[in-house]
Amino acid sequence: MPATGFYNVPEPQNEQILSYAPGTRERDELKQLIWDFRKNKTEIPMFIGGREVRTGKLIEINPPHDHQHILGYYHQGAEKEVGLAIDAAIKARELWSSMSWEERASIFLKAADLLSGPYRLKINAATMLGQSKNIFQAEIDAACELIDFLRYNVKFMTDLYKYQPYSPPGVWNRLELRPLEGFIFAVTPFNFTSIAGNLPTSPAIMGNVVVWKPSATQVYSAKVIMDVLREAGLPDGVINMVFVPGPVAGKTVLSHPDFSGLHYTGSTQVFQNLWKTIGQNIHQYHSYPRIVGETGGKDFVIVHESADPQQVVTAISRGAFEYQGQKCSAVSRAYIPDTLWPEIKNMLLEDIASFKMGGPEDFTNFINAVIDDHAFKRINGVIRRIKREKVAKIIAGGRSYKGTGYFIEPTVVVSSDPFYFAMQEEFFGPLLTLYIYPADKYTEALEICDKTSMYALTGSVFARKREIIELTTRKLVNAAGNFYINDKPTGAVVGQQPFGGSRGSGTNDKAGSALNLIRWVSPRSIKETFVPPINYRYPFMVER
Ligand code: NAD
Repeated sequence: MPATGFYNVPEPQNEQILSYAPGTRERDELKQLIWDFRKNKTEIPMFIGGREVRTGKLIEINPPHDHQHILGYYHQGAEKEVGLAIDAAIKARELWSSMSWEERASIFLKAADLLSGPYRLKINAATMLGQSKNIFQAEIDAACELIDFLRYNVKFMTDLYKYQPYSPPGVWNRLELRPLEGFIFAVTPFNFTSIAGNLPTSPAIMGNVVVWKPSATQVYSAKVIMDVLREAGLPDGVINMVFVPGPVAGKTVLSHPDFSGLHYTGSTQVFQNLWKTIGQNIHQYHSYPRIVGETGGKDFVIVHESADPQQVVTAISRGAFEYQGQKCSAVSRAYIPDTLWPEIKNMLLEDIASFKMGGPEDFTNFINAVIDDHAFKRINGVIRRIKREKVAKIIAGGRSYKGTGYFIEPTVVVSSDPFYFAMQEEFFGPLLTLYIYPADKYTEALEICDKTSMYALTGSVFARKREIIELTTRKLVNAAGNFYINDKPTGAVVGQQPFGGSRGSGTNDKAGSALNLIRWVSPRSIKETFVPPINYRYPFMVER
């Protein structure tokens, strides 16, 4: 029987962050689970059309902070498995797109509760080991943010459904938010387990079917996401998870006539290439694909001399170096007035000297490893170049070690050129570049900040003078999609700060908001006339 009520979904609230402080139950249980995960090698299949798919081509999974240890293996696929995933998605579409919304909603609300309860420690332990995140970083990402995405998106879905047109007497106008006619390709990055979960589920919540390609370095926690969705009752074929190299997936998916949308988060270059391929193939598709992409950042902190230096330093220490700077929102350039610099410098160097670096199994470590050898080499290459060039000076860090894991010291560079490459480019590591400007040239510093980089993802101003806050907010209106006043530019919360950037940083379709969900539907207007006219003639046609 179809729905017989206008149902309200549970009002979402942000998931409470557990502390994992000494003596708490969650800490003891999590530590035990980490060691269990380390001991037992797991073998991870792809998941296509409700079936586990094994190819026998096994790829090792290693913790970035302990790269000789083997956590397990995943089965790598090729074009054939991508094709199977597309077929499975298309097959599931009829059932899924016609299922009533409250049944769909229940699945994702249940998934959120499973993550909040029985799967919480599992997804955290998998993220800590597979992506080298300390427990706090894992908890706010893999558990809390993913739970929030699921609960809030269900609520936003119903908000969108409630948006209906006006109906004058004699007519009933309705707006139906149809899922897209085809399948969605979700391509996810390594750095946030929550993003890996959100990109396939947000189109699915709106009734779409999905082929999901996680990053090769996030497969270990991607498996937990899939386990949760299966246990929550997601029908076979709605989300199909394939482990294939990006270009292999891209080639097969983007040439398929039923490709109807890309939900992407990752580097700018890959996104631009995907967009180009979509453009080249545009004549092959049944409909114009939706393209949603959140990409890189060169996120800034601009400090006015009225700022509180201690607040600035804490924001920079956390904003630049938590999760080794591998957040799209991480502070990677800052503008400091010369009058505050001596004080800020002393406190910042003191903070950095106190950071402990090592594996996340040891809860006293604040800094862990960068994701893989490729990232290690790339970031070291940048540090070597900076060391060679005269324009900038490294004042903290600059060393790295890869004996057991890919460890790079939190590194601070001071550049005398505000347009130096280290002020412009994203390196995605623990590398912060500062420019010290004359305090009486704040307006010029704002201009420089706005013009330096191609990105516009996140940024902060630190100032106590209200007129400066107002000036900065206005001047930097297009410099960041997420702008912060006296706060670090990382740590957006679902339902509070919808996330995304513009310029080179993406399409700014705000993950964790109705603005994102609306991209995954194709509205249909339905007009019903109750008593249709029976004569084509209009009154003006009569002479007298
Ligand atoms: P990446 O670009 O290396 O990979 C992203 C995804 O694209 C992966 O799944 C990868 O396998 C896939 N891919 C690579 N080449 C492909 C191809 N030719 N066809 C199809 N897929 C392909 O990025 P990453 O290292 O995983 O993540 C870091 C990047 O992500 C940074 O640039 C960061 O700023 C960005 N990021 C942005 C946001 C945001 O919301 N703006 C959030 C997180 C990460």
